[in-house]
Amino acid sequence: MSAVNAVISRKAVRHNFERIKSIVKDSRIISVLKANAYGHGVLEMARILSDSDAFGVARLEEALQLRKAQFTTPILLMEGFFQTVDIDVLLKHDIQTVVHSLEQIRQLETFAKSVNSSQEKLKVWLKVDTGMNRLGIAPSEFDEAVQRLKALNFVDGHLNFMTHFSCADDLKNNFTSEQMAQFYALVDGQDGELTLANSAGILAWPNSHADWVRPGLLLYGCSPMLNRTGAQDDFVAAMTLSTSVIAIKPLAKGENVGYGAHWQATQDTQLAVIAIGYGDGYPRHAKAGTPVLINGKRYPIVGRVSMDMVTVDLGLDHKVKCGDPVIMWGPQLPVEEIAQWSDTICYELILQLTSRVDITFVE
Ligand SMILES: *Cc1c(COP(=O)(O)O)cnc(C)c1O
Repeated sequence: MSAVNAVISRKAVRHNFERIKSIVKDSRIISVLKANAYGHGVLEMARILSDSDAFGVARLEEALQLRKAQFTTPILLMEGFFQTVDIDVLLKHDIQTVVHSLEQIRQLETFAKSVNSSQEKLKVWLKVDTGMNRLGIAPSEFDEAVQRLKALNFVDGHLNFMTHFSCADDLKNNFTSEQMAQFYALVDGQDGELTLANSAGILAWPNSHADWVRPGLLLYGCSPMLNRTGAQDDFVAAMTLSTSVIAIKPLAKGENVGYGAHWQATQDTQLAVIAIGYGDGYPRHAKAGTPVLINGKRYPIVGRVSMDMVTVDLGLDHKVKCGDPVIMWGPQLPVEEIAQWSDTICYELILQLTSRVDITFVE
């Protein structure tokens, strides 16, 4: 048992998966397990979600890790392959890929010259850029891309189509509607299946559900929406991050706490020193006032987060003892809230825990 523990509830993950299904109804689900399943442990998460219609990953290494662990669920490489030699690996391991550029199509054409007759077919999801301006072919390149892909003998002639939203977390931003309209107009007349929605699309933009949805964050119970928590939409935080109190000490009015002496007591009080810091992945930018939970009660962090420790203001009227468990986030203390206190998003917090933190699973 290490000092800092991230306990993942299987039940919460299953609840979130079923909740997504009930929202999207007939759409199939690509469970997004990139970045070690958002820090939750990819192999265990894949086991819990093995009845997903597909898994989504960002990198080829992540796809291979799942194949090596004998998962037979379809896998989609959402960032696509980076070089021609990767194409053979995709075919050998039955990994589906996003194609997002004419350069990748050129690589596929080069590869095609080296294969005479391939039994395996590469399943391609053609990604269109509808305004995110990151990956995706331009709408003006769409017809050419489709033609060139369909001409390749080792590529499955049944292409799927994809786009990605840039502002779906903001209900007031109409750009998502524009992205949807552009995408649907472009693929009109194609017989392939369509996917647009990430977690925010699932929650807030029903017209984006289409044939396949791609939830990441929602599986883990967090909300992608601005100023909302997963719990408000009946999701359950899968992770509880906790540590314990290692010292309690008095602090006199006017004394300072921590590096840079950033916080000063305005009255006599008591501090709890707790065993967690940015060396565990807790955000160093958490401001004074960020809550922690001890014995069901919230207390504010004071002073700077250091590498191995955080100080908490208990006040004079408390029953906290050395050794008491401290919850940093979890179902009772939304990580979305901690992210706000730290000027970041909950995505970053849940997946930046370091190797010093033990991840365990409970029912
Ligand atoms: C990461 C990712 C997702 C999942 O996004 P969430 O906001 O976590 O649901 C979906 N699609 C693509 C292409 C991604 O890269």
